[in-house]
Amino acid sequence: MYYKYNNKYLKYIRRWIYGEHSCFKENKPVAKIDLPSTVIFKTKDCFSGDIKSNSDTLDAVYAETVNPVTGPIYFNNVDAGDVLEIKIKKIIVNSPGFTMCVPNEGLLGDIIKKSVTKFYSFDDEKITINDNLTIKTEPMIGVIGVAPAEGEVETLSPGDHGGNMDTTLIREGSTVYLPVNVKGAFLGVGDLHAAMGDGESWYMGLEVSGEVELDISVRKDLKLDIPFVKTEEKFASLASELGTDDALKKAMLKLLNFMVDNGNIDFETAGFISSLCGNLEISQVVDPLKTVRMSIPTYVLEQIGVKL
Ligand code: CA
Ligand code: ZN
Repeated sequence: MYYKYNNKYLKYIRRWIYGEHSCFKENKPVAKIDLPSTVIFKTKDCFSGDIKSNSDTLDAVYAETVNPVTGPIYFNNVDAGDVLEIKIKKIIVNSPGFTMCVPNEGLLGDIIKKSVTKFYSFDDEKITINDNLTIKTEPMIGVIGVAPAEGEVETLSPGDHGGNMDTTLIREGSTVYLPVNVKGAFLGVGDLHAAMGDGESWYMGLEVSGEVELDISVRKDLKLDIPFVKTEEKFASLASELGTDDALKKAMLKLLNFMVDNGNIDFETAGFISSLCGNLEISQVVDPLKTVRMSIPTYVLEQIGVKL
């Protein structure tokens, strides 16, 4: 099945609200879809278009429009305990994008004295910073997530449900695995970046509106309790916690457990292997929870018999 959302069906949410029944009451799905399906999400930028020029700062932003997510989508015959397998076929990002620094935000927020906004134009290959400087255009998805098991989660926050993970590996060609917490999953997508470095250190990526095409299917054989992402070269756990130390430990433990549960390897060997060829990587250090990952090369997973 192929679904394309036009503006008539667009709906933006600020929080995933949970428990299956409250989802329906307060966060009614924009569509109910059978899987597998290809779905196109049109998304707004992280401030819903409120930032229009370099003279607009956070004052121009309405709190209610921050980090909008397109969705949620309910999937028929998808239950808690399943995993959504989401292959990113295409990401279209609209030029120009903007980025911003804000006092007390970002890794060096304590030394930033005033808020500055920068719009940059780009094409498929490069982003123009000034007449003498360009950087690569590398589109990615900032927010992709499902309903949490209970309570409600702001779309600004990452977590075990996915959400605002701001992970550069979530890009065209990658596959995201999201554990489903409630019947129907309630998938939402938003916050595209035309480029972002690991860490999102100065506070933001190059924030843009755009369009994302996803091939979505359900995996009833996989058991996951946090998100994972696969690229051509590697497979990574995505762990979010208040502090990066706790997030690093969680990312490693979840990856080792995955290797033991899905491959023919014991925990100790998985530990040795990950110490020799696994990488601890930073996704972002600027959101309410920090997101990190531990990756292992796919050629290693193949040798221990992991089927993805
Ligand atoms: Ca973000
Ligand atoms: Zn963003």
